[in-house]
Amino acid sequence: MIDIHCHILPNLDDGSKSMAESIGMAKKAVQEGITTIIATPHHMNGSYENTKQTILDHVQALNDTLLQEMIPLTILPGQEVRVYGELLDDLEKGDILTLNDGGSYVFVEFPSGSVPRFTEKLLYDIQMSGLTPIIVHPERNQTLMENPDILYQLVKKGALTQVTAASLTGHFGKKIRKFTLDCIAANLTHFIASDAHNTHNRTFLMRDAYQAVREEFGQDLVFLFRENAQLLVEGKNVFKDIPNRIKRKKILGLF
Ligand code: FE
Repeated sequence: MIDIHCHILPNLDDGSKSMAESIGMAKKAVQEGITTIIATPHHMNGSYENTKQTILDHVQALNDTLLQEMIPLTILPGQEVRVYGELLDDLEKGDILTLNDGGSYVFVEFPSGSVPRFTEKLLYDIQMSGLTPIIVHPERNQTLMENPDILYQLVKKGALTQVTAASLTGHFGKKIRKFTLDCIAANLTHFIASDAHNTHNRTFLMRDAYQAVREEFGQDLVFLFRENAQLLVEGKNVFKDIPNRIKRKKILGLF
């Protein structure tokens, strides 16, 4: 199993606080059946700035340690980039790290409460530069939850999205779980990832999440999500179905 979103690198953001904690997370990941993790430290989210070279160096250091400790897990480089005005300039300058440094996919994160006005143009421009933007955890964004049509439009125009395992298992509450299932049912998401920050309150839950997908939608969709993670790592095109609008129930009698 591949996990494409994880804060396992030590001392870079609000994820792992030490190499010992990273090793603990790595062991936990292996127990869950994870073989490969894309490490995605926060970048430009107001608290953390982790540029490309810093991340590449930390990935190398963690892989060296995992080898010494004989933990069968491979770490690949990535970055969770908050949308900001100069993102495209920094991409063109080579300061932004694409997923697995493959030059195909880039993670974009919105503020948790909003979707900035320039988002649609930014995601379009990213695509014009030859990259595919992947919106991380749209199911945890207040604005998208209230106006799922915004998400529909972004996906229709070529963005991909990734939902969090813990959203599917209900760890972020019933509303977020329901919205996550709605996103999956409407073909508005393409990946499941842990976004793990530690081994206690923000852990992997990947196995439980895939089990939830299996129960709600069947094995085919589990296969699709798992295959997409593999295709992403290889820089290949992922599977996607035509997106649909999420229908909200109208209050009866108001037609
Ligand atoms: Fe994250």
